[in-house]
Amino acid sequence: MAGIPEVILRVESLFSKFPGIGRKSARRIAFYLMDREREDVVQVAEALIDLKDKITHCPVCNHITEKIPCDICAAVQRDESILCVVEDSMDVISLERTVSFKGKYHVLGGLISPLDGVGPDDLAIESLMVRLDKVKEVILAINPSVEGDTTSFYLSRMLRKFPVKVTRLARGIPIGGDLEYTDEATLARAIEGRIEIPNE
Ligand SMILES: [Zn+2]
Repeated sequence: MAGIPEVILRVESLFSKFPGIGRKSARRIAFYLMDREREDVVQVAEALIDLKDKITHCPVCNHITEKIPCDICAAVQRDESILCVVEDSMDVISLERTVSFKGKYHVLGGLISPLDGVGPDDLAIESLMVRLDKVKEVILAINPSVEGDTTSFYLSRMLRKFPVKVTRLARGIPIGGDLEYTDEATLARAIEGRIEIPNE
């Protein structure tokens, strides 16, 4: 594009791929960074690299962490007999905001979606099954959607082989709505009012 240095176009094109950032916002960010001190920009660049270098997945629960195991798995005061199964780490963060859940988590890392070529083997399901020793209840806190329901159904069938109670969140989370966008009070009520999935 005439009149725009190539490096600006490059930054713009990289930022415009970020979720929720369009071309215009990407350009605004590029110009904003250009006007900052070099040191400030280096801080941004380093923080981005740290995201990749310092964050890993907890080998127990698959949640993002800088430590192994993660803080939640390591917390002795949390109830390890209740496991809350979620799609991704953002859901853990949302549920932690409610402060009402004191059990532990298991992050699947996605949902079963045959159309996208995602099957059970692509998710952290095997590592969930090996954790069930001390577990009395598994809460399926999975967003209601076609993929979410498929995944919940699959998991509840797998879990039948184990002596655990399987529950799901009470409705109240809008269909197709995301745990991430549900307010804390609604989420807390959804956990407290959880419903047992019968073991037929
Ligand atoms: Zn963990």
